[in-house]
Amino acid sequence: MDFAFDARTEELRSRLLAFMDEHVYPAEQVAEELRARLASPWDTPAVVGELKAEARRQGLWNLFLPDAEYGAGLTNLQYAPLAEITGRSPHLAPTATNCAAPDTGNMEVLFQFATEAQKKQWLEPLLAGEIRSAFAMTEPDVASSDATNIETRIVRDGDDYVINGRKWYISGAMNPDCAVFIVMGKTDPDGEDIRRQQSMILVPRDTPGVEVRRAMQVYGYEDHSHGGHAEVVFHDVRVPAANLIGEEGGGFAIAQARLGPGRIHHCMRLIGMAERAIELMCRRAVARTAFGKPLAAQGVVQNWIADARVTVEQLRLLVLKTAWLMDTVGNKGAHTEIQAIKIATPRAVVDILDSAVQLYGAGGVSQDFPLAELWASARTLRLADGPDEVHQRSLARREIKRHV
Ligand SMILES: Cc1cc2nc3c(=O)[nH]c(=O)nc-3n(C[C@H](O)[C@H](O)[C@H](O)COP(=O)(O)OP(=O)(O)OC[C@H]3O[C@@H](n4cnc5c(N)ncnc54)[C@H](O)[C@@H]3O)c2cc1C
Repeated sequence: MDFAFDARTEELRSRLLAFMDEHVYPAEQVAEELRARLASPWDTPAVVGELKAEARRQGLWNLFLPDAEYGAGLTNLQYAPLAEITGRSPHLAPTATNCAAPDTGNMEVLFQFATEAQKKQWLEPLLAGEIRSAFAMTEPDVASSDATNIETRIVRDGDDYVINGRKWYISGAMNPDCAVFIVMGKTDPDGEDIRRQQSMILVPRDTPGVEVRRAMQVYGYEDHSHGGHAEVVFHDVRVPAANLIGEEGGGFAIAQARLGPGRIHHCMRLIGMAERAIELMCRRAVARTAFGKPLAAQGVVQNWIADARVTVEQLRLLVLKTAWLMDTVGNKGAHTEIQAIKIATPRAVVDILDSAVQLYGAGGVSQDFPLAELWASARTLRLADGPDEVHQRSLARREIKRHV
């Protein structure tokens, strides 16, 4: 078994690491300062546009998309270590390289299922980084981890569809650059097959009846750099029938296809967050002294750092194996591993970040270091893209079936 990255991955890694050092890390503070002076906190600070232009100029662009014509043409195994690097600055680097959720998942959906006209109207400007997008599935009134519960209605009326429903935690929707929603709703709520009741449809943000009502918080954070997480209400929203993605009844299957790559991308970036936490722990531990010796000399601190390193190495191996399986046997064949990393990675990284917060004392929960916000962000990934328990249930059922 060869654990080395191939030549193309190594070459991109070294260019991306240099881009992070020269452009992204220095821009972190600048972006925060600029945001404080924006007319609206949801606008994008100018430095983000500059980072995007530089990343594009350097060919560090659309790395997530395996298609060589539309994207960078990388396999999952080649992209994994690159996504990890961008995860070290999760509020800037994925956006800078046009590899940020939820746009990546939306672009994959459009690439796989959209008509040529839909691709021209929405995929091309998304790939060019000119607009942003959102994915609207979750609803406050029903348990949305079970997508068959979704109540939003998409009703055919002549040459149009009319949409009514209420969604929340719609990532990116507060950002005025978010020009389009991919909305999941029911076209056939009484259909016999509960997995064929749903459809997906493109809704331009400026369609009458679309109300971006409020920003939902994450442990008190508003997640400005991700474009927020909005409550969005659709009141008699009328769009042409040509906006449907795929066929009526195909929404559930498209949602499943969207989530495979999305889940592994989150895990890759989480490992980058954990690496940043280890680095911050080590720097702090040697720089501060308590009770006559540096924190780095305390056994408990050494245990936190050692355990974090062991965990990260385990997680990375499992994520890379999953990426390799997705490339070789497909997302379906890698189902168990995708669920395994989605269960294992967020909770382990939350624990590592928690140790880092502890090591930083009050600074750990403050706004002066990135740890508190990274913790909150990692914690949400035990819910988003399927709560742990839903993946555990499905993985366990498959495992039991193998033996009975
Ligand atoms: C920061 C953030 C960003 C998000 N971004 C988006 C987005 O862009 N678009 C979007 O559509 N959604 C988004 N979501 C929503 C997210 O996908 C949902 O929260 C998630 O799918 C769970 O749905 P729910 O909140 O309705 O929880 P529920 O379905 O009500 O589930 C609540 C809890 O019940 C338990 N549970 C559920 N099913 C089972 C089971 N089978 N076995 C055991 N226990 C179970 C789990 O512990 C689960 O956490 C986001 C959420 C967060 C926090």
